[in-house]
Amino acid sequence: MSLIVQKFGGTSVKTLDRIRNVARMAIAEHRAGHQVVVTVSAMAGETNRLVALVEGLGPSWSEREYDVVVSAGEQVAIGLLAIAIESLGVPARSYLGWQVRFLTDSAHGKARIVNVEDAAIRKDLAAGRIVVVAGFQGMDEAGNVTTLGRGGSDTSAVALAAALKADRCDIYTDVDGVFTTDPNMVPKARKMDRIAYDEMLEMASLGAKVLQTRSVELAKKYKVPVRVLSSLEEGSGTLLTEEDATMEKVLVSAVAYSRDEAKITVVGIPDRPGLAAAVFGPLAEANVNVDMILQNVSASGEADLTFTVPKGDFRKAMVVLQQKMQSLGAKEVTGREEIAKVSVIGVGMRSHSGVARRMFEALAKDGINILMISTSEIKISVVIEEKYTELAVRLLHDAFELDRPAGDRVGG
Ligand code: ADP
Ligand code: ASP
Ligand code: MG
Repeated sequence: MSLIVQKFGGTSVKTLDRIRNVARMAIAEHRAGHQVVVTVSAMAGETNRLVALVEGLGPSWSEREYDVVVSAGEQVAIGLLAIAIESLGVPARSYLGWQVRFLTDSAHGKARIVNVEDAAIRKDLAAGRIVVVAGFQGMDEAGNVTTLGRGGSDTSAVALAAALKADRCDIYTDVDGVFTTDPNMVPKARKMDRIAYDEMLEMASLGAKVLQTRSVELAKKYKVPVRVLSSLEEGSGTLLTEEDATMEKVLVSAVAYSRDEAKITVVGIPDRPGLAAAVFGPLAEANVNVDMILQNVSASGEADLTFTVPKGDFRKAMVVLQQKMQSLGAKEVTGREEIAKVSVIGVGMRSHSGVARRMFEALAKDGINILMISTSEIKISVVIEEKYTELAVRLLHDAFELDRPAGDRVGG
């Protein structure tokens, strides 16, 4: 008997009809003789509604209480799904994150899972029940409610699959799988049958919302066989796998974008050793993740440090840096939220050159100005004005011929 973890995102449980559909999909696997654990997100729009309620109370709030509020959507979804499954004649039981329990660190709003206890779930499975588990929710050592960051139900599912040594982890969403870029932005994007863990990791961390980054890290680490597929249509989806030789032949496999970052520049800091630590140390203490970093030192010995942070942390980062301006000897701290990061990704880049040139030429042809650049072995990212996001994604998708089957692309 094999054990399957299924995960259904917000759009898949948006209405009672869709919840009934999810119940039927879980029951189909159960009737096929598998043990089934289902992880669900809050009904679509619900978490946004809860976040807006918190924000409506003022400009700042306790991160602990934020998690108490925004984690609530999942409770409704698991209860409804368990009821729907039982009404179709199969015993089911729902669990909140802290009932399972998902032990996390205390980084409210973006907690990391430290351990998943599986005893209660195993008992229910042995008793023939379908187990329904709330995604997104955790609890820290001290018993505080935590959440895993937006999109965190993917991570709940993969962590459960790893803890239970599941034979499969099926992530059901509102698209057929992982595409060469967001199919809702570029309709001619192609679905990939397979994708290497490393490519998916880059795509997720560069903004492809289809899987939360941490879920891919866990899938890779514990070799969880993850499939991404549609809950609304039949299809084989996309399988996350180890890299193989055929994948390396493809120069660029995907284009990703993120509008979730903001850019900050600390202007005119006297150049000296320890400068970067003095800027980024306080940000780290404030739990702000810094992404791309650019340092310019002028002939007169003054440095400008430009970097990106998540939009959600922008105000906090600006306040922290404005407080430090004097001790840094900086002239000014400036920031911009209307930016986007657009990236091309492919494991084939490791062994090919010329990708950067093709990327920059494609953007230049349409007059898109590049504000920042960063590269790694398997990706190139640029920061541009936010208003050009869609245009840039389309241009790059065309420039690398991603609408054609991988074998038919002229440029590799
Ligand atoms: P769920 O609620 O099921 O977790 P999400 O909205 O979090 O769904 O993720 C699915 C969405 O991810 C899709 O609707 C699509 O717009 C977006 N997306 C972005 N990039 C990609 C990509 N490369 N492939 C597939 N979907 C993508
Ligand atoms: N409901 C949470 C969110 O909207 C978690 C998730 O959807 O995965 O971010
Ligand atoms: Mg999601």
